Amino acid sequence: MHKDVEKILINETELQEIVQNIAEKINSDLNGEPLLVVIILKGSTPFAMDLIKKLTMPVEIDFMQVSSYGKSTASSGFINLKKDIEQDITGKNVLIVEDIIDSGNTLNKIKKLFEHRQAKSVKICALLDKPSRRVVDVDVDYSGTEIPDEFVIGYGLDYAEQYRNLPYVGVLKKSVYEKVVD
Ligand code: 5GP
Ligand code: MG
Repeated sequence: MHKDVEKILINETELQEIVQNIAEKINSDLNGEPLLVVIILKGSTPFAMDLIKKLTMPVEIDFMQVSSYGKSTASSGFINLKKDIEQDITGKNVLIVEDIIDSGNTLNKIKKLFEHRQAKSVKICALLDKPSRRVVDVDVDYSGTEIPDEFVIGYGLDYAEQYRNLPYVGVLKKSVYEKVVD
């Protein structure tokens, strides 16, 4: 285990099982219809790359980036579109792939934007869900697993751009982001 990790929440084997379960649900729901997978940069990339390999319908991928926490561990409540997808989604089945849903602000706004652009359907897939932190209501169509209100890293999730390459999801030691007060 990495020295900055308090504990491992989801190990590699468990992650692969979660991804497999989500893929099976999507395959069954889409019933062979083509799908545009929109990957929310950067944290969702390892998850999305594992997921798309298990999808059986014709798949296209595209990327979107919105503002993140930066060096903080609390949501700012608004999102800033840093990079948009590169295509017209009118009439397409869209699956938004996100690493984690926390306040719900990010996915709520992206879903509304895609509906406004007249996608045929807009579904949300999130590897991790912190339901206790929800501020706005969001329907998560495919949720990997619920986790407690702890700041997690690994399998794409970062703290200040670090730890994305850890092969598991772990809780970051508080000493890494909190100053010790005597
Ligand atoms: P929301 O808009 O739902 O509050 O936040 C979603 C985004 O916040 C995620 O895509 C992720 O970037 C970030 N986030 C929320 N919780 C965590 C966490 O525990 N660890 C990390 N690394 N990022 C988080
Ligand atoms: Mg994110």
